[in-house]
Amino acid sequence: TRAHLAAMEKARGLNAFITETPEKALSMAEAADRRLADGAGGLLEGLPVAIKDLFCTEGVATTAASHILDGFVPPYESTVTRKLWEQGAVCLGKTNLDEFAMGSANITSHHGPVKSPWTQPGDTADLVPGGSSGGSAAAVAARVALAATGTDTGGSIRQPASFCGIAGIKPTYGRCSRWGTVAFASSLDQAGAFARTVEDCALFLQAMAGHDPKDSTSADLAVPDWSGRLSGRVKGLRIGLPKEYRVEGMPSEIERLWQQGADWLKAEGAEVVEISLPHTKYALPTYYIIAPAEASSNLARYDGMRFGLRVEGKNLAETYMKTRGLGFGDEVRRRILIGTYVLSAGYYDAYYLKAQKVRRRIAEDFTAAFKEVDAILTPTAPSAAFRIGEKMDDPVAMYLNDVFTVPSSLAGLPGMSVPAGLSADGLPLGLQVIGRAWDEQTVLDVSRAIE
Ligand code: GLN
Repeated sequence: TRAHLAAMEKARGLNAFITETPEKALSMAEAADRRLADGAGGLLEGLPVAIKDLFCTEGVATTAASHILDGFVPPYESTVTRKLWEQGAVCLGKTNLDEFAMGSANITSHHGPVKSPWTQPGDTADLVPGGSSGGSAAAVAARVALAATGTDTGGSIRQPASFCGIAGIKPTYGRCSRWGTVAFASSLDQAGAFARTVEDCALFLQAMAGHDPKDSTSADLAVPDWSGRLSGRVKGLRIGLPKEYRVEGMPSEIERLWQQGADWLKAEGAEVVEISLPHTKYALPTYYIIAPAEASSNLARYDGMRFGLRVEGKNLAETYMKTRGLGFGDEVRRRILIGTYVLSAGYYDAYYLKAQKVRRRIAEDFTAAFKEVDAILTPTAPSAAFRIGEKMDDPVAMYLNDVFTVPSSLAGLPGMSVPAGLSADGLPLGLQVIGRAWDEQTVLDVSRAIE
């Protein structure tokens, strides 16, 4: 823990943490030492980890990287973090993210952007770590934390894992409790894990996951021993490559990486086949209707009365308006406006209801595909990390980054990004493995075979 705290200090220039908790870390580490001395100890005993600042931590400020949560110190612990502490993990601090997890580059944080540890000394501009869980990915890639929590609504674990050259898994929707996690889009939000290896991700996720009566969408299923069963065996598995993911303008190095991944799996005895997910092209527009709609509703609670920031006005309405006007950043405001619009009377049928129907079609595509194959292999993102400043004034260009991660999010399926190669510029590139609902084991095994 001391070594990791020293690494955290040295890596401060990355801006990966919003709150560092060194004292808490040392006292948790001492308690872990005592348990180990008694011959006890959990799955993660004494391992220093980082927590995305979207998980409520009792007595430790939780900001969601938003000005509107300034001063909010939760009086309760999220289920996911409680489970981690019960297994002996040690908390290094709370990591930076895009405000309310809305973004793909960790540039919308009220606490400033995160710089990727892959940025080289002579670079003209810093590289983004990806987002929204950019601080967690950077902390793991920079060897500050052994593992970190993330949340993934439309790719926020998988894409930063790809950009930072580490492994990241989003389990099946319902695998981890959402209780105590600041909500963005409740039907999509899912907690997951970052680590340097697939095996570490399996272990960490095992500690986070499990049924929670406090979240009605949490599944009442036992958590398998993913790490114990991890074999990396793919012999006899059928792996699908969806033809619709060969999107126009995909850089040739991404195509080559994808082919390389397929070849590796073939060499290990898997059968690789082309499949079709016909509604893929509707996934991005569908996601960017549903996610903002749910966000506009979830974010209604930030009224200046209950949490964090309050900017006093002449009367109640003005206090609401001033608080929300000053408290939310541009991207969050954009989402609230889009979400409110698509849910409003007169537009609800044309946008929100339609998007729900298309979402069903997208999920059905996967159900049909998984009758033929055991897992699906795709690139994680259409490019390597870009630079801070790029795509910033073009939200649509930013949204396009989620093209490969969003469809499986809409279908609630488990997905993992595994480091698979380097771009021409020497930057990490990841491949994504998508599995059947509740079949994280196959996702982990196929990822392990690529790793
Ligand atoms: N980039 C996507 C968005 O901005 C996904 C974010 C996430 O998964 N939290 O909504």
